[in-house]
Amino acid sequence: MQVTALVCGAGGFIGHHLVRRLKSEGYWVRGTDLKFPRFSPTDADDFAIGDLREQAFVRDIVDRRFDEVYQLAADMGGAGYIFTGENDADVMHNSATINLNVLDACRKRNVKRIFYSSSACMYPEYNQRDPGNPKCSEDSAYPAAPDSEYGWEKLFSERLYLAYARNHGIEARVARYHNIFGPEGSWNDGKEKAPAAICRKVAMARDGGGIEIWGDGEQTRSFLFIDECLEGTIRLMRSDWQGPVNIGSEEMVTINQLADLAAAIAGKKLEKNHIPGPTGVRGRNSDNALIRQNLGWAPSARLADGLETTYRWIEQQVLSNSRKD
Ligand code: NAD
Repeated sequence: MQVTALVCGAGGFIGHHLVRRLKSEGYWVRGTDLKFPRFSPTDADDFAIGDLREQAFVRDIVDRRFDEVYQLAADMGGAGYIFTGENDADVMHNSATINLNVLDACRKRNVKRIFYSSSACMYPEYNQRDPGNPKCSEDSAYPAAPDSEYGWEKLFSERLYLAYARNHGIEARVARYHNIFGPEGSWNDGKEKAPAAICRKVAMARDGGGIEIWGDGEQTRSFLFIDECLEGTIRLMRSDWQGPVNIGSEEMVTINQLADLAAAIAGKKLEKNHIPGPTGVRGRNSDNALIRQNLGWAPSARLADGLETTYRWIEQQVLSNSRKD
């Protein structure tokens, strides 16, 4: 019998790629989202447009005992979306409601295995003040003190999935993603993250010109290319271990270094102009000890390789947009 999967958030960046990956493995896949994927058609066998905040809609789409449910839908975006404070109520209300509805519908259909995409944003701010030495091991999550409401909602929902595992026999799998990037992600709609935003700025700048960087650019992060994110997701889903676990890269760079790397890929000499803007925690890096220990695998690709692929895709988007103007 063909394995069946439901991907919630299949119109979004990671969900769209995940559908493609599951289809390549022979799954029957239903995708659902408020919208279809923006940059290329979905590979899903069935795609239901609808609002996962609506309980009746969620019950309709969870109409069978899926072998696997991947819950990626969330109200989210980059620093310009989650750190300004303007979207806090929406972020918390929308994402929590989606998780409550999806879990409830899955329990009522006796669906067992559910993947939940949490985020490194749930780690305490007090462990991420030193850009050279941030602490993001899984067991450092408490006492909780995320620096955004987005992170607080993720923490609540992680606990919700684990509570359903404890009380209702749900086989929850919880990953904490760290800055996933790649082609076909937001790059110019206000929800883009640092790698896409920087690639766009570099692609649009003239050689010898400049680009704007939020803050002093000395804040550190690691970035995981989409292919390795999917590999980790699927390995976790098929394992007997529920997490929560970091799925991220350990190759930490400053935002200034990220910008220099993008400029080098583009072959441009660019000034970095530092301007005020939301920056999030001072330092963050994935800690992969636990994933290595439990899955016998951890991401290993070089940032430069994923960034090259992403830069080329964004450059194409910029070019085709400028042709339309
Ligand atoms: P995304 O914004 O591209 O995808 C999320 C999708 O959820 C969107 O397509 C959106 O339309 C959909 N959605 C939102 N509200 C909905 C609703 N009410 N009903 C139906 N669909 C709805 O984000 P992404 O980068 O693909 O992230 C996927 C998941 O991974 C999210 O839960 C996100 O919080 C988590 N995550 C992502 C990253 C990252 O770097 N991309 C990092 C940490 C965690």
